[in-house]
Amino acid sequence: MESGSGHIFILSAPSGAGKTTLGRALREKFPHIGYSISHTTRPPRKGETDGEDYYFISRQNFQEGIRSGHWAEWARVHDHYYGTSAAFLDQEISHGHDVLLDIDVQGTRQLLKRYPGSITIFIMPPDLPALRKRLETRGADSPETIKKRLAAAEEEINQRHIYRHIIINDHLPEAITQLCNVIRQYTSPSRPKDPSVS
Ligand code: 5GP
Repeated sequence: MESGSGHIFILSAPSGAGKTTLGRALREKFPHIGYSISHTTRPPRKGETDGEDYYFISRQNFQEGIRSGHWAEWARVHDHYYGTSAAFLDQEISHGHDVLLDIDVQGTRQLLKRYPGSITIFIMPPDLPALRKRLETRGADSPETIKKRLAAAEEEINQRHIYRHIIINDHLPEAITQLCNVIRQYTSPSRPKDPSVS
């Protein structure tokens, strides 16, 4: 199903690959691109705000959403559920708005079925030892969680071939430039949010 002229940009990366920083840079450079706020059953981390970082909802509500077809895609990641509202996405792209999603590989596969024209971008960490070091120095996770995240990272990296663009985040400023160049192929930084408004 592909309606309207809005682009769907999907950004995926193993945790610790620098996706949050890159996503933030993108949103600064391309303010007209809307950001899809996911729903999750994960409890908020320190500093996270409901309705800004995620919509934090109960497991029961999430599962109800699965039954009612509320999610354009959903996945279970690190013991929690994450999903994107189908109504939100359909509305944005049918109005010609560009949208950026930060979702995992499972979700990307589902969205590619629903919106085959989605522009998929995978952020690669330079290598697994570097990723381990980043996760350790970030200090946000226990050794057990880091182990789980590294295993998940390896699995995601092995599926990177499903993405149209792959960016290696070895050197952050360079990765930001590459990412912006990719986005610029599809949309201009100054494109108005609603093409009907000049
Ligand atoms: P975190 O809990 O660290 O914010 O996110 C964990 C993982 O869940 C990340 O890989 C992130 O991309 C993924 N994620 C966040 N929101 C969604 C979503 O709506 N759908 C899917 N499939 N993955 C998501």
